[in-house]
Amino acid sequence: MHIGGKAVKTATALKVELPYDGSEVGTVYRAFREQVDSAVAAAKAAGPAMGEMTREERSCILRKVHEAMLERRDALASAIVSECGKPIREARTEVERAAYTILFSSEEAHRLVGEVVPMDAEPAGKGHYAMTVREPLGVIAAITPFNFPMNLAMHKIGPALAAGNTVVHKPASTTPISGILMADIFAECGLPQGALNVITGPGGEIGDLLVFHPDVVMVTFTGSPEVGLRIRNLAGMKRVTLELGNNSAVIVDEDANLEEAAARCTAGAFAHSGQVCISVQRIYVQSRVKSEFLERMAANAGKLVIGHPREAGTDISSLITPKEAERVQGWVAEAKSAGAKVVTGGEHRGRATVEPTVLADVPETSPVMCKEVFGPVVGVNGYERLEEAIELVNRSDYGLQAGIYTRDMEKAWKAARQVHVGGFMINEIPQFRVDQMPYGGVKLSGSGREGPRYAIEEMTEPKLICWKV
Ligand code: NAP
Repeated sequence: MHIGGKAVKTATALKVELPYDGSEVGTVYRAFREQVDSAVAAAKAAGPAMGEMTREERSCILRKVHEAMLERRDALASAIVSECGKPIREARTEVERAAYTILFSSEEAHRLVGEVVPMDAEPAGKGHYAMTVREPLGVIAAITPFNFPMNLAMHKIGPALAAGNTVVHKPASTTPISGILMADIFAECGLPQGALNVITGPGGEIGDLLVFHPDVVMVTFTGSPEVGLRIRNLAGMKRVTLELGNNSAVIVDEDANLEEAAARCTAGAFAHSGQVCISVQRIYVQSRVKSEFLERMAANAGKLVIGHPREAGTDISSLITPKEAERVQGWVAEAKSAGAKVVTGGEHRGRATVEPTVLADVPETSPVMCKEVFGPVVGVNGYERLEEAIELVNRSDYGLQAGIYTRDMEKAWKAARQVHVGGFMINEIPQFRVDQMPYGGVKLSGSGREGPRYAIEEMTEPKLICWKV
């Protein structure tokens, strides 16, 4: 662990495994109350040093981190492969994206502004002048999931530090390595000791300690709705940002470019074996083009290479644990017995791998449609009228991102306005994200937005300063 600028071990070692074959790839140490308390104390003690830094000093550290990440991209990508089994090509992309997230954060350190308030817009305000200044909140707990262990951590750490806060980061137990490597890089790039601390161990135990800690002023969480809701309920007056799950839907209209839509939907359904919060999970295709679309999806899925995540040609590696692979395969079997057709895939292979699976005519009540699969499974159902497709997309407890493929501007606009989500894509899959855009959901997908410019607003207090002349 990293606490107050020092490497910290406890007597309890935790093994980190490569999910694809279960081989041991590292060891971390379990935090207890003592380490949680000392990490929060170190973060609190570093507050004044961070607060005294100029915007340029904070921005400069982040720029150095961006450069260091690109210089070490191979080692960082290799760490991501080891701990989460992500195919190496996707792991390299994650490192590059994470480096951009830090670069955008460094730019936001310069741009962070308050505003002049027009006090005399009300007669009582005559002779009064006011402005807001954006002040850091203090110690922020950043709790992150396994599927993008580096970029999602940088989406919290980058904006928090850019605004002058300090951080205690708790990565997922399956993927603790990249967080620790990143803390080394921040320290080398001149971040004051204690401004970024990383503690490892079971979220169910140390998570509560962090959320309840009186010196933690904000919890920024990415992960499952169950844990997110628990944090929301326990956090009391603390500020909370929640980036949770989804069962992303896309509408494919009869006039869409089917070749492109099928190619992008295949990529969006099976990247990182579907373990992406905006993975394409439900596709509603206009009935007249459904069989052609399904043929294309099946052909594309059939070309994906299943293999070891370190092989350059691998598209599909494994799920995070064998238990997850069993769950996903069980959901496929359940959909099949409820009447769904397995167009391709559906089998559990090796230790924790599930074949890329395309299902058709899936009952809307099947878990593969109405819950979050978080595996390489996509359901394709037909529709007759756009209104019906919009209603099906909205028939979800989630609302992170959704999309439509169509050449008809009127239909695209209608869907964009009527689908209830945080982000809507036209002629692009809902899995599309660049790291500077506002990103977050409605309903069970969470609250608050990420993307450095938007996260930094959540991580600062707009203090009003008023004076009478
Ligand atoms: P998870 O089980 O909710 O875990 C996320 C983090 O929370 C881990 O660090 C976990 O620690 C910790 N945690 C567990 N119980 C906790 C508690 N009681 N209090 C505080 N922290 C606790 O999620 P996951 O399986 O890692 O990730 C998959 C989920 O994340 C999916 O639902 C996915 O959609 C969502 N996700 C959302 C986004 C987004 O931006 N909206 C992005 C990526 C993923 P341990 O690992 O030690 O249990």
